[in-house]
Amino acid sequence: MPSAQPTTRSDELMRTARTVIPGGVNSPVRAFRSVGGTPRFMASGTGPWLTDVDGNRYVDLICSWGPMILGHAHPDVEQAVREAAAKGFSFGTPSENEVLLAAEIVDRVAPLEQVRLVSSGTEATMSALRLARGATGRSKVVKFAGCYHGHVDALLAAAGSGLATFALPDSAGVPVSSAHETIVLPYNDVSAVEAAFAEHGDEIACVITEAAAGNMGVVPPEPGFTAALRRITREHGALLISDEVMTGFRCSAAGWYGLEGEPEGGAPDLFTFGKVMGGGFPAAAFGGSAELMSRLAPDGPVYQAGTLSGNPVATAAGLATLRGCTAAVYDRLTQVSDALIAGATEALNVAGVPHVIGRAGSMFNVFFREERVRDYDDARDQDTAAFGRFFHSMLQQGVHLPPSAFESWFVSASHDDEAVDAVLAALPTAAAAAA
Ligand code: PLP
Repeated sequence: MPSAQPTTRSDELMRTARTVIPGGVNSPVRAFRSVGGTPRFMASGTGPWLTDVDGNRYVDLICSWGPMILGHAHPDVEQAVREAAAKGFSFGTPSENEVLLAAEIVDRVAPLEQVRLVSSGTEATMSALRLARGATGRSKVVKFAGCYHGHVDALLAAAGSGLATFALPDSAGVPVSSAHETIVLPYNDVSAVEAAFAEHGDEIACVITEAAAGNMGVVPPEPGFTAALRRITREHGALLISDEVMTGFRCSAAGWYGLEGEPEGGAPDLFTFGKVMGGGFPAAAFGGSAELMSRLAPDGPVYQAGTLSGNPVATAAGLATLRGCTAAVYDRLTQVSDALIAGATEALNVAGVPHVIGRAGSMFNVFFREERVRDYDDARDQDTAAFGRFFHSMLQQGVHLPPSAFESWFVSASHDDEAVDAVLAALPTAAAAAA
């Protein structure tokens, strides 16, 4: 007979949470639905460690889904936040930190001349889309299956069976009319993009792509894919939006753009950012050339606004985080990623578990399949049950992975040798559990 598990404080909180919050969570992946079990409610985080409400300690490989690049409660960021908060929380007027943060971003990513600050990645992509539509006078949008750009209606569209050109709503509540403005194509498939433009070229406002996909697991663009998007959009008078919400300031100081280099034919027209640039607080941005950005209100006809946009506390956190992202930080992220990938590969090989690593800079994950992953169909064709067993074994051993086989693992520069060794020590048992 299975013995009853003792009830934990996380169990109790989840029971109450389910009564007052849909599914008990404020973002669906947190609910552990694809791996089963009760999510751990966190009480605190410091450096690479999380401590839950039951006092269990975990090496954190979620890092708040990317933002915590310096680790939890980094002293410099904490001090900046305390100092900003002591001066007031929100003014609804311009304030100095907004200017400093915008300048910091523009300095890092060469093609940018201006950015507008917003509060979430979703707002950034939604606003970039409106700007692209406003600037081109066109309404259709091309996105790629498996790329996530936030919960914007037009971007919550799934490929319709057979006809990629008639996307379907990917969520109840998304109007069919909105999804029909979206063309969903397979990632890394240049000929599909060419075909879509051959048919609808003069109706397409923009192509939006994750600079390197991290929301179907990590799938970087194949060599030449971004350049092909640049060429095709130019030929047809459409804009190219590079969504760097996840990759921005993580893959390098200039994000994926800095790692991959400028695509042949020129830079994307618009970039979107979030996560790292807020250092764990709600700050995000979209930007491009001064000419394109001048089409936004108050100078131009494209409306966009926000009560908390450029919030002084969030911008203080973002500024301290970006300033803390030194060359040594990126070196450490690479070292930690290399060590964890090598450890996972060895453990899974010893256990005889089919796997392949997806990687873009310090974003990586294990796909539980043998063959390389190029697109969403490949990513879905993996042994998610094996991932679930692997995940729970790691959790039990004090390593908190993202609770889904389709998410990037994130590390921070605060992942020191103790944290790395703790992960390496847990991997053989987890690999055996996955076998
Ligand atoms: N774009 C990308 C590439 C993302 O990964 C995400 C979130 O994970 C978003 C946009 C949406 O950002 P947010 O969750 O801050 O709204």
